[in-house]
Amino acid sequence: MLKKVLIANRGEIALRIMRGCRDMGIRTVAVYSTVDRDLKHVRLADEAVCIGPAPSAESYLNIPALIAAAEITDTDAIHPGYGFLAENADFAERVESSGFKFIGPSAKVIRLMGDKVSAIREMRAAGVPCVPGSDGPLDDNHQRNLSLARDIGYPVIIKAAGGGGGRGMRVVENESELNESIAMTRGEAQAAFGNPVVYMEKFLGAPRHIEFQVLMDEHGNAIHLGERDCSMQRRHQKVVEEAPAPGITPEVRTEIGKRCIEACKRIGYRGAGTFEFLYQNGEFYFIEMNTRVQVEHPVTEMVTGIDIIKEQLLIAEGRELRHQQSDISINGHAFECRINAEDPETFMPSPGPINQYHAPGGLGVRVDTHIYNGYIVPPNYDSMIAKLVVSGNSRESAIARMRGALSEVFVDGIKTNIPLHERIFRDSAFNSGGTDIHYLEQMLDS
Ligand code: ADP
Repeated sequence: MLKKVLIANRGEIALRIMRGCRDMGIRTVAVYSTVDRDLKHVRLADEAVCIGPAPSAESYLNIPALIAAAEITDTDAIHPGYGFLAENADFAERVESSGFKFIGPSAKVIRLMGDKVSAIREMRAAGVPCVPGSDGPLDDNHQRNLSLARDIGYPVIIKAAGGGGGRGMRVVENESELNESIAMTRGEAQAAFGNPVVYMEKFLGAPRHIEFQVLMDEHGNAIHLGERDCSMQRRHQKVVEEAPAPGITPEVRTEIGKRCIEACKRIGYRGAGTFEFLYQNGEFYFIEMNTRVQVEHPVTEMVTGIDIIKEQLLIAEGRELRHQQSDISINGHAFECRINAEDPETFMPSPGPINQYHAPGGLGVRVDTHIYNGYIVPPNYDSMIAKLVVSGNSRESAIARMRGALSEVFVDGIKTNIPLHERIFRDSAFNSGGTDIHYLEQMLDS
């Protein structure tokens, strides 16, 4: 049984984790940087420890400070949330070697799936469909690379094995650019991620982004909670997510979900995780696994009724999964809008004080946020200030509900991207469902 959990994060996800702990009677420790002392969860947690100054490198990414905070508060386990150290295998290792439970998979599995080349190799072996591409890293044999690309067919994409956040990728249209592009991506990958390994994939022209949520306990039981469609992206950043994905039949969901479960068992997964796929012409192509809870987990919670944070905590307690696959059903439809403190036209961050905030409400409306009247959005971190999540019996009713909820939100003092969300939910192609990952940027250009 966990008695006390330290939340190694900030903002809405720290509050979300705190609520999950509270539901289970688990005490919580908040950690915060000096600019974050007024965060909502810091005030609500049972204990709070300042871990350093505003820059993340000195606070939320400061492993010794986090471990010290866990030690002085006599914590049992550490929940990393998403971002920051959530997928840092060295952190997971330090947490466990210091005698705390890491709420997530083992450091070994984080490392395995964090390297995209080894992740793809594991997925292929588990029977998960992957993008046609190089079976492993590219070397400097130009002739071999040219013939590989010819076999795959142009355009191809060169990707960094250690890449993340949509960086470390380059699309190659034809033979004349190939070798130079490999060398350039390799150089960038070394500079950005400290890892020069690159690999090649077929570049898919107009895919959708569809991802599967999984849960696995320490006893070999794994289930999936269906899929989310996160195709509405700008610069590879998700803006709106929904569950289920339009047009995915129960049979296809079962088939891909089963492959994901097999992959979890193969790698010895533990906790909540997500398999991300590109989906084009009815085919799924695995691109990467996220070994943590995701920003968009609430849409899955809304359609399955499963509290994903609570499941993470129960798994960390060493319990067996409470649900079998046959217990899981997808009911209705849910959307999430990521509300960012940014200019809706230029996308420039808009930090500062929130003078007035009015939350929307009503049946099927959920707001995961740390903001309140008088809260000052610091310039130091991600600009997301709230997640507006709605559910309805059908996609249409959820769209109507989201429109209503968006019209109710009122934030004064800073700029937000709410006007962008209003535009998206008035867009006829989006409302029909199934738009691809380029659609939002095309919409913005038009
Ligand atoms: P990251 O870890 O940086 O997010 P991903 O491998 O998840 O990298 O890819 C990020 C995005 O890049 C995808 O959501 C997609 O938009 C684009 N992308 C990646 N691989 C391909 C591909 N083979 N074809 C087309 N687009 C791709």
